Amino acid sequence: MGGYRLIGHPLGHSMSPQIHERLFALEGRTDSYSLFPFPPDKLETQVPILRGLEGFNITIPYKQAILPFLDSLDDSAALYGAVNTVRVQDGRMTGYNTDCDGFLRTMQAHGFSLKTSVCVAGAGGVGRMFAIEAVRQGAELTIAVRDLSKGQALAREISERFGCSVQVSTLDALDRPFGLIINATPVGMSPQTGISPLPGPVTARAGAVFDCIYNPRETRLLCDARKAGVPFAGGMEMLVWQAAVAHEIWHGSQFLPAQIDLLVDEMNALLDRKAGEADA
Ligand code: NAP
Repeated sequence: MGGYRLIGHPLGHSMSPQIHERLFALEGRTDSYSLFPFPPDKLETQVPILRGLEGFNITIPYKQAILPFLDSLDDSAALYGAVNTVRVQDGRMTGYNTDCDGFLRTMQAHGFSLKTSVCVAGAGGVGRMFAIEAVRQGAELTIAVRDLSKGQALAREISERFGCSVQVSTLDALDRPFGLIINATPVGMSPQTGISPLPGPVTARAGAVFDCIYNPRETRLLCDARKAGVPFAGGMEMLVWQAAVAHEIWHGSQFLPAQIDLLVDEMNALLDRKAGEADA
């Protein structure tokens, strides 16, 4: 069978096929990459098909659900308890997490330090990774959520694992400046643009803002940051870098930052075209 796929549900507007096909072209390969959506109760029955692939990526809701079916876990996946990339060799599946690579390469590209007061908005799958990585890099962490009990559960886990204190707040109660704000909620994502997860004055006092949403390219949160002169970055770089690191795992490929920058621009332009078509 062979080939590469993205599993998740639903997968309607995923940009992964376009990104991976461009990465295959940069590698000089002609592999195929396709979307493979199926409902959650069908995961177990799809495993034999997955074992016949060369590799696959994983998105909501399977990043944790896939764990019992894997034969081994890379340290990156074990650290966050979530897998977004699988390498298949002779039917054996090894899980990796490249979301973190995508995140850290984006921080590095923009000169955003995690060794500061960091506010992570959201405590779901990707928020958990941002929060753990921030603490590992020396951040003084605040987790901001709509449901305090979920934020407290993540804060407790991080405090116990890493021996640090973690603040928890509701999103609307935030009122202090942070060195870096990271949005890990879907608030502001297309088609519900025009809303921000954070009070505008908190954004305006931040040292830098990263929104992991990539559609639209400039969310309301990033618009608030731009208007206040706060340095900011959107989620497309993270999305493209996490895909590029999957190719490093699958084929040992190395991409130059300039190649990735071009691909980010290309994907943003594609998003803008799609938005234009939808408006027309
Ligand atoms: P998730 O596991 O569903 O977590 C979402 C988090 O956002 C939860 O803490 C949830 O709180 C919170 N939330 C949801 N709606 C909210 C609202 N209206 N107000 C306040 N908080 C709200 O999702 P995820 O996988 O972490 O993904 C989160 C976002 O990151 C998505 O937009 C996704 O597209 C983006 N993402 C981007 C990349 C990238 O490469 N750029 C990679 C992964 C994810 P509750 O628990 O209370 O519901």
